[in-house]
Amino acid sequence: MIKDIEKKFVEGNLKFKWKIMQDLESIKIRKNFPKYPVLILTCMDPRININEIFQLNSGDVFVLRNAGNIYTIDVLRSILLTIFKYKVKYVIILGHLDCGMLKINLTELRQKLPSKFLSSLSKNYTDLLPKLRDFFKPILDEIQNIKEQIKSLEKIKDFYPEIEITGMLYDIKTGLVFEYEKFKDYRDIEDFKTSYKGIIINKKHQFTEFLGKIEEENVTIDDSNDLSQEKALNEGKSFTIAEIKEEHKNISILGQKESKEYDREIIHMIIPKIKVPKIKFHGVKIYIPKNYNNKKEIVN
Ligand SMILES: [Zn+2]
Repeated sequence: MIKDIEKKFVEGNLKFKWKIMQDLESIKIRKNFPKYPVLILTCMDPRININEIFQLNSGDVFVLRNAGNIYTIDVLRSILLTIFKYKVKYVIILGHLDCGMLKINLTELRQKLPSKFLSSLSKNYTDLLPKLRDFFKPILDEIQNIKEQIKSLEKIKDFYPEIEITGMLYDIKTGLVFEYEKFKDYRDIEDFKTSYKGIIINKKHQFTEFLGKIEEENVTIDDSNDLSQEKALNEGKSFTIAEIKEEHKNISILGQKESKEYDREIIHMIIPKIKVPKIKFHGVKIYIPKNYNNKKEIVN
């Protein structure tokens, strides 16, 4: 019942208010301008947590979401407003692997959707499938979809040539994000899949480079699941980035013996004496996404 949900949420809100009064919580976002002049168009999939993925804070960027991160007239409406009113300069289409929009079966929809809705789309039964496709906009391929959405969005440049648009691909299982440059030359997701090993090795180098950037800082490995790390922590031992890098070499392809071992290890890097409260990296696991092996459902 929606009343139960409403009750739960209102109680949550009262808890929030109570925490504010106790100085345990505060209304953090006071500005209506985001920190970065960025708008991210992404999928409504609940596994996508923009703040978490990019280590942002609430209010740092504009986020628009819909099923399949699709460019629509309503998306255009919002984007134009953010450009005009909030000086947004950059738009990112963030697609993701294992998108539910790949699994949309129009024939099934035609069978299961209320007839009232179907007849609102078309009175002609034979005409329904193209109408449903047009309405739900199922996608056939995550890579192609990002490219198509960028292409559609590029039309904005007719009005605002200074706006820059790019795409990103989020791998829900590893938490890794791939830049457009890294996948734009792949024809489709199958092509991406074939090259996945190389892509991940490239990401590993990127990660190692990132570690190099903060080389001077001492880090402490903190992982309550790993006894050796826990022991080190109890002893107050600090690890250097070089040591973390050494650990990082263990990254392996799923299916190899040591990958399971590595799977249990999650490297948490805590950089002391820095205002950033805690920087954590989960271990990077290389794998070939399962869904790649599944046959794609046919979209009629
Ligand atoms: Zn999705």
